[in-house]
Amino acid sequence: MLRCPVCHATLERQTKLVRCLNGHAFDIAKEGYLNLTIGHSVKAHGDDPEMVSARRRFLSAGHYAPLKVAVLSELKALRIESIVDLGCGEGDYTQAMGDAGYTVIGIDLSKSAIKRAAKGSSVTYVIANLTQTPLIDHAVDAAVSIFSPFDPHEVHRIAKHWFLVVRPLPQHVVELKALLYPTVRLNPDPAIELPQQRHHHRTEVVFTLDLTQPDLGDLLAMTPYVHTSPVEGIQRVQACPQLNVTAAFAVDVYETCTENGKSI
Ligand SMILES: [Zn+2]
Repeated sequence: MLRCPVCHATLERQTKLVRCLNGHAFDIAKEGYLNLTIGHSVKAHGDDPEMVSARRRFLSAGHYAPLKVAVLSELKALRIESIVDLGCGEGDYTQAMGDAGYTVIGIDLSKSAIKRAAKGSSVTYVIANLTQTPLIDHAVDAAVSIFSPFDPHEVHRIAKHWFLVVRPLPQHVVELKALLYPTVRLNPDPAIELPQQRHHHRTEVVFTLDLTQPDLGDLLAMTPYVHTSPVEGIQRVQACPQLNVTAAFAVDVYETCTENGKSI
């Protein structure tokens, strides 16, 4: 399923490395992941460490569990076997897909995130650039992008049937924004036009988070608003003992038609 980032030949797995028929070899790290970047493209840190720890605490508290359930249920309805999670980060959703029985590859450019994701996991994790995915053509049944950027041409090349995109809806965390800003501006709808895929359907996942401190502070620290909000706004969030916050996401499913695979 993996291809050599140098010559694009298929990579074969050996004991401690993967190798292509032209002799390009890449070590399997002791945590089990592969680094298939070439040159100097590895991000040493990825997101800033505070944002990463806030997200880790928030997700491991299970606040976004309904989203995880919804993503798994969408995947189940597609009757697929293999998935690539593009921009998988620390593998919170990737691991859930692996546990559900899919053959999963998680790809991210952040070495620290992949290292953490791979520890003790049977999922294949790869450090790679999402614009040069080290996967053979039509390698997987579906590609998934959960809050991460993607390259539509690469998605079309590697995903045989489906592409799932998860993004926040306009009303996502609107109550948090109301504390932060004098005037709340809603985000635009996350619908994306893709050149080679047809929008198949959207499922909206909306639920209420009943948050107290420090979870409320963690939610703020996970968002870009922490860098753009007025100081008074941030102080209002920090001083707020409890808040009901709307979590609202769109799961957009796109269908991709390739010569080799006709969509179901
Ligand atoms: Zn090669």
